[in-house]
Amino acid sequence: MVKMMKVLVADAINEKGIENLEKVAEVLVDTSITPEQLVDTIHEYNGIIVRSRTKVTKEVIDNADNLKIIARAGVGVDNIDLNAATEKGIMVVNSPESTSITVAEHTMGLLLSMARKLTIADKSVKDGKWEKKKFMGVELRNKTLGVIGMGRIGSQVVNRCKAFEMDALAYDPYLPEEVATQMGVELTDLETVLENADFITIHVPLTPETKHLISTKEFEMMKDTAFITNCARGGIIDEDALYEALKNDKIGGAALDVYEDEPPAEDSKLFELDNIILTPHIAASTKEAQRDAAIIVADEIIKLIEGGTPNNVLNMPRIDNITYQEVSPYFELCEKLGSFISQAVNGKVKDLEIIYSGEIAKIDNLDILTRTVIQGAVNPFLSSPVNAVNATIVAKERGINITEGRKTNAKGYESLIRVKAKSESDEFSAEGTTLHEARILKVNDYWVDVIPKGHMFIAKYEDIPGSIGAIGTKLGEYGVNIGIMQVGRDKKGGRAIMVLTLDKEIPNSVIKEIQALDNVYEAIGLEL
Ligand code: NAD
Repeated sequence: MVKMMKVLVADAINEKGIENLEKVAEVLVDTSITPEQLVDTIHEYNGIIVRSRTKVTKEVIDNADNLKIIARAGVGVDNIDLNAATEKGIMVVNSPESTSITVAEHTMGLLLSMARKLTIADKSVKDGKWEKKKFMGVELRNKTLGVIGMGRIGSQVVNRCKAFEMDALAYDPYLPEEVATQMGVELTDLETVLENADFITIHVPLTPETKHLISTKEFEMMKDTAFITNCARGGIIDEDALYEALKNDKIGGAALDVYEDEPPAEDSKLFELDNIILTPHIAASTKEAQRDAAIIVADEIIKLIEGGTPNNVLNMPRIDNITYQEVSPYFELCEKLGSFISQAVNGKVKDLEIIYSGEIAKIDNLDILTRTVIQGAVNPFLSSPVNAVNATIVAKERGINITEGRKTNAKGYESLIRVKAKSESDEFSAEGTTLHEARILKVNDYWVDVIPKGHMFIAKYEDIPGSIGAIGTKLGEYGVNIGIMQVGRDKKGGRAIMVLTLDKEIPNSVIKEIQALDNVYEAIGLEL
């Protein structure tokens, strides 16, 4: 067989991936290639596999005249210039699913270690003691597992806990009910999970919404025998609050693989405690995860060679030049509109409606913009980047219906794009255009003019004297400065909305305090 494709393996990856690839491609392994050598030789290759050592920079890509695919054996792609690759029509793929089982198994290890006090029992025996009574444990059987985040890893933890005869309750506001039922978990709210679970396990990405998701109030809700584990990202559990909860026996124990600072400070208070197990961010570190990453990216390249489309493409497909010129000014707007409304709507998005008006509505194929809206809408709550290629698949998996419409009238603007998100109990829309940069001109029924960027805040409130002042005062009390303020209302004394751009992130606790103010219907923090 003539091997048409030449692939460079620039970082050490598992042999199995290389073996598979060699069946269909000419493979050169050079794991000590220097950045200069890479720039000089990259034009010889059609594919490259890297881990994190090799940087696939713009300079490399500019010289990569024959490259079709850049594959990252692993998850993060900080070492690859995605924009440069997209511009040159080169596909970038990764292997986000390669670590799911490995992390799920580490979580199981931590759950069992907490239940049976394994780490301190081990230490005690090695210290020459024989303290059988001190290490009375509990079974997992018939206990309730509380899963926060039912994605790739959370669902694998549930599967394994079922084998231990546990019941599972889950909190994941973005997962459709039908999918949860198929996975054998009962979806409920966070409070119910915290109040009823014997073992709580966290598998959400770190987002503004999940930052300190578990803090003092949440520990108060838990059983005093509850165990909690975090193998997701540091910062989801408030470590100060965790310390207090453990020290005061407010909960039974905890196990962490990830920390607010990594490594934690040498004098971290957590080190004083006996009822916590700490591992050094190793949940994803197994030989099998590394092997699987290599096999998955090799399979992606093989798929491409055989004429198929790889599953984990991280950048956009190539579109013709004329369409690209016409639609590219709206990429940022679409992404921001999607992100804005999905963070602002209450509950999980069931329908996304995108209406293009004016000049833009005359373009034949707006698929790439619709995909960019979806990308913006789902990225705030998923851990690995969704892109224009996989956006529609992800929307389908998540039970989000997409509708696209066109109108000729753009209300005096050249073009307008309106995105509306509907959940079971709420709907929220934002409409905008590009005037040098993305601008949102209408939020629900209110005209505003905001640049959707950075830390933002929306409040819906009663249009009476003092409402705006009370909100501003609360922000001021916590040192959150308002950069830009836009207000709109339906009628004098009616319902009003304010959209603020802030100089720093607004803590969840402050949002809750504003929400509790008289005359405020709703307060929402957004990160764009
Ligand atoms: P995923 O994207 O497949 O799943 C995340 C789930 O969290 C999704 O179902 C999403 O709907 C849900 N979610 C998002 N926001 C939520 C919220 N506010 N409340 C409840 N649920 C919410 O991600 P994954 O691959 O399962 O990864 C889960 C976590 O594990 C991520 O934080 C990831 O970075 C981390 N991770 C850690 C390691 C490690 O070495 N410790 C390795 C791999 C992944």
